[in-house]
Amino acid sequence: MTCLPPQPWQDSPGVQRILAALEADHGQIRVVGGAVRDGLLGRAGADVDFATTFPPEAVMTRLQAAGVKAIPTGIEHGTVTAVADHHPYEITTLRRDVATDGRRATIAYTDDWREDAARRDFTINALSADPLTGTVYDYFDGLADLAAHRVRFIGDPYTRIAEDHLRILRFFRFHARFGHDSPDPDGLAACVARARDLMALSRERIRDELLKLLAAEDPVATVRLMTTGGIFTPVLPEITVDHLDAFARLVGIERTLGDVCDLRRLAALLPADADLLDDIARRLRLSNAERKRLVAMAERWPQLPADLADIRARLYRLGGETVLDRALLSAPDAETVAPLRAEARDWTPPRLPIGGRDIMALGVPHGPAVAATLRAVEDRWIAAGFPADRDALLALARDSVAG
Ligand code: ATP
Ligand code: MG
Repeated sequence: MTCLPPQPWQDSPGVQRILAALEADHGQIRVVGGAVRDGLLGRAGADVDFATTFPPEAVMTRLQAAGVKAIPTGIEHGTVTAVADHHPYEITTLRRDVATDGRRATIAYTDDWREDAARRDFTINALSADPLTGTVYDYFDGLADLAAHRVRFIGDPYTRIAEDHLRILRFFRFHARFGHDSPDPDGLAACVARARDLMALSRERIRDELLKLLAAEDPVATVRLMTTGGIFTPVLPEITVDHLDAFARLVGIERTLGDVCDLRRLAALLPADADLLDDIARRLRLSNAERKRLVAMAERWPQLPADLADIRARLYRLGGETVLDRALLSAPDAETVAPLRAEARDWTPPRLPIGGRDIMALGVPHGPAVAATLRAVEDRWIAAGFPADRDALLALARDSVAG
């Protein structure tokens, strides 16, 4: 019998209250999905999700009666979020799919643990465990697949992809994270054959899965496989084999530096063209901040700034994030970006010690000339190495005004 090793969340008094309220001692609540999978692998997972036989309304009232904050975050599909010791835990009533259309499912509640496991995507994601004893329940040979680092659909891959097309991307995402060597051939063949189904999905769902995939520690081999398999072609045809070398180089640098960024990795896979990146960001419904960041990555630096003055000038003008993004995307290796990273970490760009009022005091009339003068002064201030001395700057300003 396989047991989940002791998990940190088990020590939380709040979690113990949840478990008592939902009758863990009678087997009515289990920990499910990623937390079991990651717990067995000894990898600290992000979220701990529970499943229960109690209907969502009963989950709400039982939690409230036990003094646990309960939020009906997705009550229409069976999910209640319990807050224990400032941590959210999703508790979902056992479900089965009654109808699917590739995008969403109509569900019914059940009290059958196996049925709930069967609607999950991969065998390694269908494990559940008793939260008190750690006993693991495995209805679809997930433990064997986990040991073999194999991502395998539960049931026929074509059927499972027809139920929910997002599983194509999820197959690659979990392979990137857990897989060894080549993926399960049946799953891979089905994903390649059905890649066009991705077009039916919302851009938001595609974006979320894609970014999670790119955030895997080393997604290079998986992305290569997806590119050659034409997985991106229907939704992001701009990702081509031409960008794989740049992508692999960036991932290598990020791993050495321990600084992983999904958006930067996306930029490495795309042409360095600001208009195109803007368009793709809109297509993927990225936030405004993410879109601006992606677009800023269109500029690459054939030569990285080497001397301190140049590095600081760029940090001042562009900000640390843009400087690092461009440097990491442009650099041949991690060593080359080291001086730049150190400076971005240790140096805080100063503020220009004079303002528009000072310029006007020098006789420049209120209007665009003030900003222009200030810009000219700022340029000279940057070139001079950001002197803090106000009087020296006022002298510079006087100089600019005079001539
Ligand atoms: P992560 O650490 O990346 O969050 P996870 O396993 O928790 O991994 P989620 O996407 O959060 O992944 O999904 C939680 C669980 O819900 C999965 O383990 C799986 O059992 C089930 N699941 C999620 N999405 C699907 C889907 N599209 N089809 C079937 N089952 C799914
Ligand atoms: Mg999760």
